[in-house]
Amino acid sequence: MNNSFNVHAMTICQNCENSFEGKFCSQCGQKANIKRITTRAVFSDFIKKITLWDKGLLYTTLRLLKGPGHMARAYLSGRRVNFTKPLNYILIIVAISLLLFPKKDFDQAMTGIGQNNRAMGPGYTDWLFSNISLIYLMMIPFLAIVSRWFNKKADVNYAEHFVFYCYLMAGCTIITIPFTVTLNLLHINTLTFGPIGMLQYMCWFLFFAWGYVQFFNKQRSYWGGIQGVLVLLIAYIIYIFLFSILFGLAIILAKMLFDIELIPLSKPVQ
Ligand SMILES: [Zn+2]
Repeated sequence: MNNSFNVHAMTICQNCENSFEGKFCSQCGQKANIKRITTRAVFSDFIKKITLWDKGLLYTTLRLLKGPGHMARAYLSGRRVNFTKPLNYILIIVAISLLLFPKKDFDQAMTGIGQNNRAMGPGYTDWLFSNISLIYLMMIPFLAIVSRWFNKKADVNYAEHFVFYCYLMAGCTIITIPFTVTLNLLHINTLTFGPIGMLQYMCWFLFFAWGYVQFFNKQRSYWGGIQGVLVLLIAYIIYIFLFSILFGLAIILAKMLFDIELIPLSKPVQ
């Protein structure tokens, strides 16, 4: 039986002049049925976009927390429309977690930068290192490299590893949020390593290993979980190593510039 809608009617796209069948242009994706713009249409389009965006964010988060490995696999296998894209997703999650970071610490860190004509003050590094979500974000490329070494036989390319770790690290960030909030409420510096910090690390190690085992289908032995933690540690060591070198270079460079060029500039101030 045929559908009663005029399935076979050809429409000429008003955007790109392609002729097509169905509800959307096959070339540019514009709707077949374009009406004159009204105030109501403008607002309902806006609301639709926002709720769609919310839905994607909510759906991605729920699926991610329910099973990070399965979720990333589903995305990579082509079920993509309902998910927020990996880079967008992690950037949104990191931005949310940065907003939850205590403002006092943030101000302290930021005013540390320009204090004495140094490129980077001590407050800056404190803030950078205490804000775990930034570390998660910057670790993603290294995680993808290490993970690829460990899973050479798996048919997963670098970009696919990268996508998986975007989602996994976003999940780790979400897990740290309640801990950050608790530490804030108890007025504990996020840098001190107490029992809450320990619990937090435990939680995201487990979450990470769980996602890893799921994604690479290594549920059969404990080795999968251990391997996941190893990937995390090796990527972290590489990240710290590279970051220290870069940081050291930046400090040397700042000192050189400071000695050669910045002293005459700062003299009139003192
Ligand atoms: Zn078109």
